Amino acid sequence: MAQAQVAVEKKQMRPPIESGCPDGMQYMHPLMIKNFGNWKYHDRPRPGVLHHVAYSGDEIWTVRVGTQRQLGPYEINLLCDIIDQYGEGYVRFTIRSNMEVMVSKWEKVGPLIQAFNDAGYPVGGTGNSVTMISHTQGWLHCDIPGTDASGVVKSLMDELYEEFIKEEMPNRVHITTSCCQINCGGQGDIAINVQHTKPPKINHDLVANVCERPSVVARCPVAAIRPAIVNGKPSLEVDEKKCICCGACYPPCPPMQINDPVHSKLAIWVGGKNSNARSKPMFQKLVAAGLPNNPPRWPEVAAVVKKILTTYKKDARDWERVGDWVERIGWPRFFELTGLPFTKFHIDNWRGARNSLNASAHIRF
Ligand code: SF4
Ligand code: SF4
Repeated sequence: MAQAQVAVEKKQMRPPIESGCPDGMQYMHPLMIKNFGNWKYHDRPRPGVLHHVAYSGDEIWTVRVGTQRQLGPYEINLLCDIIDQYGEGYVRFTIRSNMEVMVSKWEKVGPLIQAFNDAGYPVGGTGNSVTMISHTQGWLHCDIPGTDASGVVKSLMDELYEEFIKEEMPNRVHITTSCCQINCGGQGDIAINVQHTKPPKINHDLVANVCERPSVVARCPVAAIRPAIVNGKPSLEVDEKKCICCGACYPPCPPMQINDPVHSKLAIWVGGKNSNARSKPMFQKLVAAGLPNNPPRWPEVAAVVKKILTTYKKDARDWERVGDWVERIGWPRFFELTGLPFTKFHIDNWRGARNSLNASAHIRF
């Protein structure tokens, strides 16, 4: 009978698929399953803690912990031991690499936070804080990064520790990092993106063996790549005057090497947001270009990000996101207040810019 019951339950679960995360319901705290879709209200008793109250009268507290994202077995065991001992054994990851631990009693919240802090993990990231920086996959999972995005995140979050554990910003601040110029970066209040500054260097000996030349030619957004015969072998050539150094040819053809320790830089963009609250979604705009990609602590990037954040904190009105603030004061004033130099690199003079200037986050032509 018990076996039949298990078989029925297994059948009802979502079947395994090749990729993607498993069904989250099976890992949820029992109180969350019981009250699923029936929450009356929620509030934040302190930074880093969410409190949800259900129509049934049940209450649940969620403690948000910042992690360094790339967790090894030691860190995972340490965190799971804390969650088992001080929490109730239920945890989930947010898309910004925080862990959220659910408990059914307020009395458990204090000791849980203390245990995380003692182990060196901060609790925060809620409300008007600088939430954990999201990043693309970097060297760990992807084959085309120009920098290790998670390294930039770790070193910057160390600098912004106080802003993570407190809620003292005018509104929430989402920071993102992206390790190439073309794929999975998002719109952030402040975004740190790789910036290539020279055309790809082609290894002609390898192109014929590794690349499908027509698909590489088709990849280039400005039609700068042509098939060519070099040293008697089929290869490719780049019209360097046309090339905008985007790096789109590198993923389908690694011999078109664009990453470079000196010429792959970092750029900072501000004012992007996906939310519809108070103002429409916005695209981010370039404010600092050509910053050195300087591991392991990226001090030049940290200095610019902190300068923008302190100016925003001082000058913005309550509830203004970074983009709302800049829209109100105007871009000239933004550069004046932050002291960042306005250079020719801030002008979008690419011939396709007519389209990008007409675009919104909702409709792209
Ligand atoms: S941003 Fe680019 S390099 Fe980074 S993980 Fe995404 S596709 Fe790979
Ligand atoms: S870097 Fe971009 S613009 Fe330059 S050749 Fe490659 S795909 Fe074209």
